[in-house]
Amino acid sequence: MNYVEGKKGWIEVICGPMFSGKTETLLKIIERMDLAKKKYIIFKPKIDTRYSINQLVSHNQKTIEAINISHGSDIKRHIKDCHQAIVIDEAQFFDKSLVKYLQDYANSGLRIIISGLDKDFKCDPFGPMGDILAIADKVTKLTAVCQVCGCEATCTQRIIDGEPAHYYDPQILVGTDDKYEARCRDCHKVIYD
Ligand code: ADP
Ligand code: MG
Ligand code: ZN
Repeated sequence: MNYVEGKKGWIEVICGPMFSGKTETLLKIIERMDLAKKKYIIFKPKIDTRYSINQLVSHNQKTIEAINISHGSDIKRHIKDCHQAIVIDEAQFFDKSLVKYLQDYANSGLRIIISGLDKDFKCDPFGPMGDILAIADKVTKLTAVCQVCGCEATCTQRIIDGEPAHYYDPQILVGTDDKYEARCRDCHKVIYD
């Protein structure tokens, strides 16, 4: 099923682990909206400064301009009557109040295309993503390639100074070498102690 023009809005979620192609998929959808001459607006959370502060950037370095916002309530300040779609990347970093804003904008007729990590490095639901998946009209779960065994990867492995992260490690560890890999459930490790 796909979004039908002229109906009520629509919430479409693209999720999966790191490197699964979420941002690439968003960029492809955006390209199609350009071809169809649709008016859209792109947001990302202020916290995500991995590559660039005002762009969506995929791991293969494709980019597009995006507006940084810290909260779902900021959408109102940027959106205009002409907009037909809202695109959001890295939605896992927003708080759960985003869910209500998504419902309201979808009910007012907008197409919402939202992407984010469904699971954090512990394989637990990440931020508001569980709720967003529940309210979605369409969900696409992407997979990556496990960087250990080559199988389909659905998890994100966090590695700190060469070792699997501990369950209680904070989200940000200053002064450490933090990296992430796509892994299957078998190869994904979290240290509990
Ligand atoms: P995401 O937004 O889900 O993190 P991106 O769309 O930024 O992913 O990047 C996806 C691209 O990353 C793939 O097309 C591929 O070129 C590259 N890539 C690097 N490592 C992997 C991996 N382990 N599995 C799949 N793709 C990978
Ligand atoms: Mg991405
Ligand atoms: Zn594996």
